[in-house]
Amino acid sequence: MKNLDNLLYRILLKTNLALLVITFILYPFRRSLSLGFLDSKLLITLMISLLSFLLFAIIISIYNIKFAKRLVFPNISYYLLYHIIFPIIHKLFSSQSKGYEKFSSLLIDYNNRIQRKQINKYKKDEVLILLPHCLQYTDCPNKITNDINNCKECGKCVIQDFKKIHQDYGVQIKVATGGTLARKIISDLKPKVILAVACHRDLTEGIKDVEVIPVLGFLNERPNGPCFNTSCDVNEIKNTLEKIL
Ligand code: SF4
Repeated sequence: MKNLDNLLYRILLKTNLALLVITFILYPFRRSLSLGFLDSKLLITLMISLLSFLLFAIIISIYNIKFAKRLVFPNISYYLLYHIIFPIIHKLFSSQSKGYEKFSSLLIDYNNRIQRKQINKYKKDEVLILLPHCLQYTDCPNKITNDINNCKECGKCVIQDFKKIHQDYGVQIKVATGGTLARKIISDLKPKVILAVACHRDLTEGIKDVEVIPVLGFLNERPNGPCFNTSCDVNEIKNTLEKIL
């Protein structure tokens, strides 16, 4: 089932959706561009089959998100949600709006469900915990973006808990000040699995960008508003870490 899912995901959905979009764009100009073949029955049949496939993907996505204990064709839903619907939501809504946050929470949860079913056990140096800089107490003078061990464990933020996780489990823990640095860290360290903490927007985009490496996402808590003295559920991350080591 997994192989069939991947095959459909890679070949049918990606290629055919691109064809469908191109066909729709060209169709109104078929006469002026001498593309009379666009009127053919074959093409109409193709378009109907593609639309049927898209409808199928939408239905199984709703089923997977809302009801399924056992996911059906998870990669097809994943592609539809992250690569087609999310970019539309991203364009239409502000990333601070309730609708955006609700939809990205659904996506992150769905991603985590897929990853939890697929990921294996890893060695400690294959695991990267990636944290946003806003977890650090804003007036802290210690440069933890270089090395989390620079934290002096004063208790004002959760960075001290992650320092302890680093010492106890030996996994790589990095603090990124933005998406560019996060990408560089991933490219340099080449982890096999990432446990990432971030806000709705950064986490959803990060999961989408880092498609070849499994990412388990954890939303940060923002009692003081975005990007300022944020926090997160360290125990949830620690429990997940113990399951994959
Ligand atoms: S716990 Fe560490 S990182 Fe956080 S404020 Fe204290 S010294 Fe700074």
